[in-house]
Amino acid sequence: MKHSNKKEYASFLLERLHREIERPLTVMEVCGTHTVAIARSGLRDLLPDKMRLLSGPGCPVCVTDDLDLDLVIALSREKDVILATFGDMMRVPGTESSLLQEKSRGADVRIVYSPADALRLAAENPSSQVVFLGVGFETTVPVVAAALEQAIEMGLENFSVYSLHKLVPPVMRVLLEDPEVKIDAFLNPGHVCTILGTGPFSFISEQYGKPCVVAGFDATDILEALLLIVRQYREGRPSVEIQYRRAVRPEGNPVAVDYIEKYFQPVGARWRGIGEIPESGLELREEYARYNARLRFPVTARLRKRKKRCACGEVLKGLKLPYECPLFRKVCTPARPVGPCMVSTEGSCAAYYRYGKKK
Ligand code: SF4
Repeated sequence: MKHSNKKEYASFLLERLHREIERPLTVMEVCGTHTVAIARSGLRDLLPDKMRLLSGPGCPVCVTDDLDLDLVIALSREKDVILATFGDMMRVPGTESSLLQEKSRGADVRIVYSPADALRLAAENPSSQVVFLGVGFETTVPVVAAALEQAIEMGLENFSVYSLHKLVPPVMRVLLEDPEVKIDAFLNPGHVCTILGTGPFSFISEQYGKPCVVAGFDATDILEALLLIVRQYREGRPSVEIQYRRAVRPEGNPVAVDYIEKYFQPVGARWRGIGEIPESGLELREEYARYNARLRFPVTARLRKRKKRCACGEVLKGLKLPYECPLFRKVCTPARPVGPCMVSTEGSCAAYYRYGKKK
């Protein structure tokens, strides 16, 4: 059937979803861009009552653990260090301070839009040490690897990377193993899958019997993906499917993966609210250790007890919806965020706050 416009097609997909869903389904998205797209389009209010959408640990800023934040804040206080970071990290509160507060106290923290900007800073400031704060999932890492390669070619010895990069498949496995977390299917992150393809996610259907569908970012993409999930359940054939065919191939982007593997190796990483997950982070390989800011600046931090209890950990596991946090809107707002999920533009709390969805 042909549809003259997206609105008409969305109505058609919604009608199919309402008609075809047979059992209650809880679907988790693990991508901040999906979180925002779902909130902005108001999809939750239009879906069948049997379908529940949860936001998972899909925002790299939000999943950064307090201890890692405090360590980065300690690093920003080091003499002659310029800390280069994406803007979202500036206002994320650690247990004592934030990078923005440190900047106001004199730390040299600069907002950059890419690792290449950080390289330029290093070239322009030879008497300072420029540390690029690497925060992101598989999608971000190839550009960091490219910057590193360029730094090596340029002989830039005052550039290093503090890697807080994280990998998505291991955290999905942890959620599936968690008896508290009830998920029937995943909307797979479209951007991450452009790099990884579908292979690293096949365990979800093969070992756990759950569907997962790689979705694009339009409302109709998401609805199509949800319909594919419903049909997988109806037909009893859980698998990894690609709805986002215009960008994702089953094999992903092997060149980008090789690039990641050339410079980085998997290591254990701390995830907010979830804890340490083996092989879920990326660290520079030993042969590039001299570009590893963690080794170049072995700072320590003492975790302090937070005055206000943020429920980001539970929100990231899908155990709480943002408005179920007692601080939501009353104490915690984008202007005065208590936790990272309210700071980041891709955070669940910020998306719920901005688009006002309660369901
Ligand atoms: Fe944390 Fe604020 Fe979200 Fe509550 S509303 S979980 S305090 S970020």
